[in-house]
Amino acid sequence: MKLFELAGKVAVVTGGNGGIGFGMAEGLAQAGANIAVVGRNRDKSAAAVHKLEQHGVQAVSIETDVTDEVQISTMVDEVVDTFGRLDILVNNAGTNIRKRPEDLSAAEWHQVLDTNLTSAFLCSKACYPQFKEAGAGKVLNNGSMMSIFGAPWTPAYAASKGGMVQLTKALATAWAADNVQVNCFLPGWIDTDLTRRARRDVPGLHERVLERTPAGRWGDIADFQGLAVFLASPASNFVTGTAIPVDGGFSVMG
Ligand code: NDP
Repeated sequence: MKLFELAGKVAVVTGGNGGIGFGMAEGLAQAGANIAVVGRNRDKSAAAVHKLEQHGVQAVSIETDVTDEVQISTMVDEVVDTFGRLDILVNNAGTNIRKRPEDLSAAEWHQVLDTNLTSAFLCSKACYPQFKEAGAGKVLNNGSMMSIFGAPWTPAYAASKGGMVQLTKALATAWAADNVQVNCFLPGWIDTDLTRRARRDVPGLHERVLERTPAGRWGDIADFQGLAVFLASPASNFVTGTAIPVDGGFSVMG
């Protein structure tokens, strides 16, 4: 058994067409995994598939809205039809609506919870029969610093990301005996479309992130490649239920 080898494995990466999800997908592809990129934007997904194929693996794009249980079930069927197996699930798709609690509508609350948290539950549940049948599986859940901290403009986002850590623990304990490991990772401030929008809207954010992050820089999507390989490979076979910060020290800065 090679510790960090993923040759022949198949990974589903939700939101794998850009940002952190693409960083994770690239790490997995470099270790030999075939990738199903799951997202809504067809053009972005096609471009991601093209780049992933440069690593000598098979990649496909499956257009799916992860808030829709029927579409998730169809997506998993398509992955198994295409590749004949499914070994790794990265629950990464996410969104944010930046509003104070008093301004956030119930519909907006549900949109964020459905996209960030319920989707992870539904995708994990849909993949579980494949893991069980194969006798192994890996689930990687994308949390946030908002899994730990709060902020005035993140009521739904923080609730969803805190929930992601607890969902991780519940799934980890439920499926450990099936040799399925479930872990969460907590990104700090990473340079992606999501935070580029925030940087534009929030004056001084860029400077505050640099000052507050001990590493003195924003994270890059490439910073997620190694973590993805560790959590998806035999190297982490006795690691489950954890929440690992990938934050340049942000969460331990006193
Ligand atoms: P991006 O905006 O680049 O990525 C978001 C991804 O989610 C896109 O690929 C998008 O694909 C997908 N997505 C959103 N809604 C849906 C949906 N309903 N169905 C399917 N796919 C969906 O931003 P990031 O890379 O920054 O975000 C990725 C994850 O990382 C999120 O969960 C975010 O909360 C988390 N995160 C990011 C941090 C950062 O600093 N950037 C910090 C902490 C956590 P499409 O548009 O094609 O649907």
